[in-house]
This record gives sequence, C-alpha cells and structure tokens, in this order.
Amino acid sequence: MIVVHYAGISCDMDAIMKIAKSKNIYVIEDAAQAIESKYKNKYLGTIGDIGCLSFHDTKNITCGEGGALFINRKDPKLIEKAEIIREKGTNRSKFFRGEIDKYTWVDIGSSYLPSDILAAFLFAQLKKASFITSLRRKKYNYYRTKLLPLAKKGLIELPYIPKNVVHNAHIFYILLPSNEIRDAVLKFLNKKGIPASFHYVPLHSSPVGTKLGNKVYDLPITTDKANRLLRLPIYSEIKRVEQDYVINILTKALRYKS
Ligand SMILES: *Cc1c(COP(=O)(O)O)cnc(C)c1O
Repeated sequence: MIVVHYAGISCDMDAIMKIAKSKNIYVIEDAAQAIESKYKNKYLGTIGDIGCLSFHDTKNITCGEGGALFINRKDPKLIEKAEIIREKGTNRSKFFRGEIDKYTWVDIGSSYLPSDILAAFLFAQLKKASFITSLRRKKYNYYRTKLLPLAKKGLIELPYIPKNVVHNAHIFYILLPSNEIRDAVLKFLNKKGIPASFHYVPLHSSPVGTKLGNKVYDLPITTDKANRLLRLPIYSEIKRVEQDYVINILTKALRYKS
C-alpha cells in the first residue's frame, strides 16, 4: 500500500498501519513533499515499512534532483536489495565494506547515486532544514489568517490540518466551489502575473491509469478535489507585499465570480 502525504500533511497513519497489519501488507510512505512534517510526533517517512523523500527542485529541501529512501523495517534483505538497485544491479556496496573480494552483477538496477557536488549542496540545505521550514510556516500562516474571511463566507475552502499533525508548509492550496470557478480564478491570477496553478491530474484518470482499466468515476472524491484545487505561490523568501498582492487579486477574482 502506497500512501501520499499530499502537501506535506500526514495521512491518517494509525488507521493505515492497522489495515496493513491486519492484511499483512507493506506500507510505503510517499513523503516526497513531507520532509520535517510529523504525525503524532513521528517524522513522516519513518512510520511505514519504507518511506521516500524527494529533493527535487520543487521541494522544500532540494539539490535539484534526488531523494532518500528510509527502510524502517528491520529486514537486512530489504536493505541489501536497495543497495543493489542503487549500485547498477551490483553488490559493490558489500565490496566497499570488505565483505566480498570482488563485485559483480546480481540483479537489475540503475545508477541512483547522487554526485558529490549535489550531496554538498543538499548537506547545506539539510543543516538549515528547520529554519527553512519555519520561514515557510510563517508565510503559510499569513495566507491562512488573511484568507479566513473568504473561507467563512464560503467562497473558498482552506486545507484541513488534522490534530496531532505538524506540517511543513510545502503547498498552500485552496478549494474553489466548482471547476468552472477554479479555472476562471486561475486564469485571472495568471493574467495578473501570479504563478498560481492547479495540481496533479489524478493518476487513475491519466493515460496510463485508464490503460490499466481505471475509470474516471472510480474515485469521485479525488476527481472533485483535483478539479477545484488551486495552489498559491509560496516559498521561504516570498515577501509580505507579494502575499498581499496575491490575496488582493484573489479576493477581486472571487468578487467577480460569486
Ligand atoms: C515530487 C514528488 C515525487 C517525485 O519525486 P522525485 O524526486 O522527482 O522522484 C513523488 N511523489 C510526490 C507526491 C511528489 O510530490
């Protein structure tokens, strides 16, 4: 079972782990967006059997491309398999540790090692991770406070943050009342120079998803949210005046639309 912590906000991990345990299946956390986020005081990516972080250039902590794999289950076979996949299908990691006297090809794999230069770049980011996250949270909370009146009027919905969850302010999204309003508001914001955007076309409705036999109506809630979702620009150094501009233009757009 693969769960995605969308926008860096945790899934209901107690419920997920309970189901997985009862069916004896692995849980893989896609924590690509969720570095520094927590569920009940545990970092996301460390709760399931396996967790993945991304350091892609769209993420909070980045080195352009790359990621991290957490193997949380105490299973030497899983670790060995990951080492082999990372090292082009060879057991070179064992060779480096002096466990074997020459290395060879033992399975499929690819070259997933980051370069030293990228690793150095990432290291500096990781050292500042909590500072970067705290900056983002400030920007996030500013949007949230300022947009609360619009939410109270029912013009937008704000993200739901469950109790026991600390999030990393990766994405600031709102939900509009309909797909038509979302598209019109998005167009208006873009025209005013604001890089707002929608987000993922749900996987089940993508060309690959439908080829695998899924129908768009299979996941009505996912489809509905994706149709109404709009992301506002957020990054650690966005200025107060820039956020105010976004809020003003958004308010204007909604006045026309409602
Ligand atoms: C960015 C992202 C990925 C992909 O990460 P890469 O480092 O580009 O492989 C996967 N899942 C989610 C939810 C993401 O946001």
